[in-house]
Amino acid sequence: MKNIAILGSTGSIGTQTLDVIKDNPGLFRAFMITGFTNSYLLIQQAIAFVPEYVIICNEEKYAEVKAALSHLPIKVLGGYEAIKDMVTHQDIDIVLTAMVGFAGLEPTINAIKAGKDIALANKETLVVAGELITELAKEHNVKILPVDSEHSAIFQCLVGEENNPIEKIILTASGGPFRGKTTEFLAGVTREHALKHPNWVMGAKITIDSASLMNKGLEVIEAKWLFGLEAEQIDVIVHPQSIVHSLVQFEDGSIKAQMGLPDMKLPIQYALSYPNRVKNNFKRFDFVNYPNLTFEKADMDTFRNLKMAYEALNRKGNMPCIVNAANEVAVAAFLKNEVGFLAMSDIIETCMARIAYVAQPTLADYLNTDKETRIFAQNLIMQMPLKAYDFNEK
Ligand code: NAD
Ligand code: MG
Repeated sequence: MKNIAILGSTGSIGTQTLDVIKDNPGLFRAFMITGFTNSYLLIQQAIAFVPEYVIICNEEKYAEVKAALSHLPIKVLGGYEAIKDMVTHQDIDIVLTAMVGFAGLEPTINAIKAGKDIALANKETLVVAGELITELAKEHNVKILPVDSEHSAIFQCLVGEENNPIEKIILTASGGPFRGKTTEFLAGVTREHALKHPNWVMGAKITIDSASLMNKGLEVIEAKWLFGLEAEQIDVIVHPQSIVHSLVQFEDGSIKAQMGLPDMKLPIQYALSYPNRVKNNFKRFDFVNYPNLTFEKADMDTFRNLKMAYEALNRKGNMPCIVNAANEVAVAAFLKNEVGFLAMSDIIETCMARIAYVAQPTLADYLNTDKETRIFAQNLIMQMPLKAYDFNEK
C-alpha cells in the first residue's frame, strides 16, 4: 500500500489521481490532499477519501473546511507553508505534484529532501529549476516519475534500455485549437476560443499554454532534465490525434513509441504503480477507428513561444525561470482579457531581454528571478495600450 500526497487534488490532474486511487483501494491511499481555494470540492474529497491530512492553501477558507470535517478523524491545516512542511511527513511514499505553476517548486524540493518519490505533473518546477531538482533527487536517491503524458511515454519506452543511449526523443504535440492558423488570425482570438482544446480537458493555464505551444516549450525543457538530454536531441512533431504520446530514437535508428487514447489517468496510474502495470478498465484504443495518424512540422514562426523555450534552454541559467514567470503572468492576464493572444509572446520576449541573467542560480536566485519577472511583466501589461487588442470573435 502506497501513501500518496496529492498537491492540488481539486484540479484536473488531482481529481483524476483520486479516480485512480478509488479504483485501486488495495494499492494506493490518499494520505494528504491539498487545494487552493475550492473548499467545496476539497471537503467533498475529504469526506469520500478520509485522508490523514487536508490542507487548504487559502487561509480564509480554513475555518469552513475545518468545521465541515470536524466529525472525521482528519487533521485540517491552512496555508501554503503547511503544504511545504507536511510533504515531508514520514508516512508519505509518493508526492504527486499537481498544483499549477511556480508554487510547486518549494514543496517539491522539501519532499525530495525528505526522500519522497515525486510523481511530477507540475512541469513548471523542472522548467524553473531543473538542474537543482534533478541533482537533489540524485543526492537523496529519489525517483522523479513523470505524469505528463509525453514524458510518461518516453519513460515507458526507456524501461529495459538503461544501458542504451538515446539518440533523440520526439515529443508529440496536438497543435492545440489554433493549429494551421496565421499570426493575423491569432491577433484576434479570445480566451473562450483558446480554452477549447481539441483532445484534452485540463486546467485553464495549461490549456492556454497548449493553444500557444508554450506547453510544448515547457515540455522540451522538462524532457531535458528528466532524461538528461541536450536541446538538439529533443524534437517536436505535431500529431493532431494525440494517440502516439511520444517517441524515443536509439543509436541504431530504432524508434519506440508509446500509444493509447488520450487519457491522463494512464500516465498517473503508471507513475503511482511503477515499475508495475496495473489492470484497469480504461477505454482501449482501436486502430480501425483511427485509419489516419498524421504528423506535421511545428510552426515555430507563428507560435513563437516554442522557439523562445528552446532559446531559454540553450541560454541556461535562470532564463527558463524568467520565461516561466513571464508566461504565468501573461496567461493570467490573457485569461482576464487584459492582453491579446500575441501579446503573451511579446511579454515573454521582453522579460527575456530585460531581466538580469544569472548563470548559476541558487534557490534564492530562482525565487528572486521569479518575483522580479512577475513585477516587471505586470508593469509591462499596465503600460500596454488598452485599444491594442481586438477581442472580436473570429
Ligand atoms: P488545475 O488548474 O486544474 O489544478 C491546479 C490545482 O493546484 C488545483 O487543485 C488548485 O487548487 C491548486 N493550486 C493552484 N494554484 C496553487 C497555489 N498557488 N498554491 C497551491 N495550490 C494551488 O491544473 P491541472 O490542469 O490539473 O494542472 C496541474 C499541473 O499538472 C500543471 O503544472 C500542469 O502543467 C500539469 N499537467 C496537467 C495536465 C492535464 O491534463 N491537466 C497534463 C500534463 C501536465
Ligand atoms: Mg503533456
